Amino acid sequence: MSNSECSHNCSSCSSSANCKSKNEPQKPDNSKFLKHTLVVMSGKGGVGKSTISVNLAVSLALKGKRVGLLDVDIHGPSIPTMLHLQNERLMSNGEKLFPVEKAGIKVVSVGLLLENPDDAIVWRGPLKIGAINQFINDVDWGELDYLVVDAPPGTGDEPLSVFQTITGKSSAVIVTTPQEVSAADVRKSLNFCKLLNVKVEGIIENMSGFVCPCCKTITPIFNTGGGEKMAKEFNVQFLGKIPIEPAIGQSCDKGEVFAFTNCESETGKIFSSIADKILES
Ligand code: ADP
Repeated sequence: MSNSECSHNCSSCSSSANCKSKNEPQKPDNSKFLKHTLVVMSGKGGVGKSTISVNLAVSLALKGKRVGLLDVDIHGPSIPTMLHLQNERLMSNGEKLFPVEKAGIKVVSVGLLLENPDDAIVWRGPLKIGAINQFINDVDWGELDYLVVDAPPGTGDEPLSVFQTITGKSSAVIVTTPQEVSAADVRKSLNFCKLLNVKVEGIIENMSGFVCPCCKTITPIFNTGGGEKMAKEFNVQFLGKIPIEPAIGQSCDKGEVFAFTNCESETGKIFSSIADKILES
């Protein structure tokens, strides 16, 4: 291939004004402060992706890791509500934005920039991509071992922008529920990762059975095993099953993080074992 056709950043290519890689603006290198980015994805909404993002981030922090949580659900940020941070706002020194801290993690969400939490954001793709870029590169994250990203459901601009902006290690965690219809949506997320050549850390099956608040027995109210089946089919790790746990909703209502206040419960231990599997991989 001649230099005029070359679009790769190859060391063998001598200087040429036509070499695209030399003319493209350099991406800011965030690998220096973000060691590993975990993007939590799902095929559809309501499967507990934000719940898992928050609890996974806190479980990693409980293991001594420096963790940030970035909510890139631009149109429906739920992390501020889930963490009772509705009255907090991101501060800025004119150059950098400073995350809000809660339960040992650093949190950034577009919801923490809105004047009124009920304001609707009407942004097209390029604006969203610009905002995500700023949330990654222009936030004073300090040095993080893990940045957990709560992406909106589906395979749109948001997860794509995150993967394209991160220059260090990144991988995906996929959340599903046991029902077949949800598992079918997960295939899209898995295929999206395959197309982008993104490593899938594993699949989590949420709402897998119901924990009785009295006797703590887990009753399978839907078929279970959809997530495990999908993991086998795509040859990715199955990270674990989280049951429907009334205490998760109650923690949320109190502005607490379940994995932080209930780390000794059976479900708390499942979150902890999922964090271990991610650390090991
Ligand atoms: P998503 O981000 O996929 O839209 P959320 O995390 O917002 O879903 O969860 C939707 C609702 O389900 C929330 O009210 C949350 O508290 C609840 N929820 C999620 N997972 C569980 C669970 N394992 N047990 C009990 N409630 C849960």
